[in-house]
Amino acid sequence: MDKTKIIDGKMVSELIKTKVTAEIIEIKKKNYRLPSLTIIQVGDNKASSTYIKNKKIACEKVGIICNALTYPQTISETTLFNIINKLNQDSSVDAILVQLPLPSHINSEKIINTIAIKKDVDGFTPQILGRLMLGHYQLLPGTPKGIMLLLEHYQIKLPGQHVVIIGRSNIVGKPLANLLINASTTVTVCHSQTKDLSSFTKQADILIVAVGKPKIITPEMVKENAIIIDVGVNRDENNKLCGDVDFENVIPKVKMITPVPGGVGPMTIAALLENILYLYYQNNNS
Ligand code: NAP
Repeated sequence: MDKTKIIDGKMVSELIKTKVTAEIIEIKKKNYRLPSLTIIQVGDNKASSTYIKNKKIACEKVGIICNALTYPQTISETTLFNIINKLNQDSSVDAILVQLPLPSHINSEKIINTIAIKKDVDGFTPQILGRLMLGHYQLLPGTPKGIMLLLEHYQIKLPGQHVVIIGRSNIVGKPLANLLINASTTVTVCHSQTKDLSSFTKQADILIVAVGKPKIITPEMVKENAIIIDVGVNRDENNKLCGDVDFENVIPKVKMITPVPGGVGPMTIAALLENILYLYYQNNNS
């Protein structure tokens, strides 16, 4: 494998974590309260538990306090609403993260909207997403932010490039499309109803795939020398972690590509840590 083609999210995320750690050391030196994140989990979804564990470890490594609260699958919307409202009022909590998905009897949008904007670390509230659309970037959702930071680190030229994004979720595809439009790229967004997907993917200078289906992007679907960002997290036939891109067969053809694991995933966590620190400073200055 040509390692020079790898966009190393793990390495870039470590650089960001080192910066966050240094800032927290300064906070400790001043004997100030440490930044803190509260994560809310409902039920015991295995994938959610793993994501939360990873976020908690990352926080603790850099010196951020992380409280993970778990509630039963049967919790009512009203109880959850009250819990979040209490956290909104608690001045020792800088950041609140509700781990998705929530059980079907709970309206996720309504719950997310309950989070105070000044504590919305995921950036999923309409106000933050609306600001993002208008080009105001105080806080960005973790995965789109992580991807932009990766592109920036590798000095990947954006203006005038044709970016094709597959996936239009509110947490990845849509915010990313807005960020990339504002970065003067030409953006095409594809989804499950797109006809002849490969006619679009083949045009991409930068192809970003956020679908959640193992290896749906094959070598014939990518342009020679394209840059590929693989957001997907899946298990292959051997239960091994893999992305949405057929990595082994695509890599000879492309200029650069993110691996799974070790690409976008660690950047999402690093972006989360930066966001917690940002909210901490905001809350302490308001
Ligand atoms: P999502 O909400 O399920 O959205 C998936 C998108 O893919 C939808 O827009 C869907 O189209 C589209 N799609 C589904 N099948 C398709 C097909 N055959 N051809 C073209 N488009 C298709 O997922 P998400 O939350 O955005 O996450 C996507 C993937 O990224 C998942 O594997 C998730 O685990 C991963 N992820 C990773 C990170 C990370 O940090 N690494 C963070 C977030 C998500 P419709 O809109 O028409 O249904």
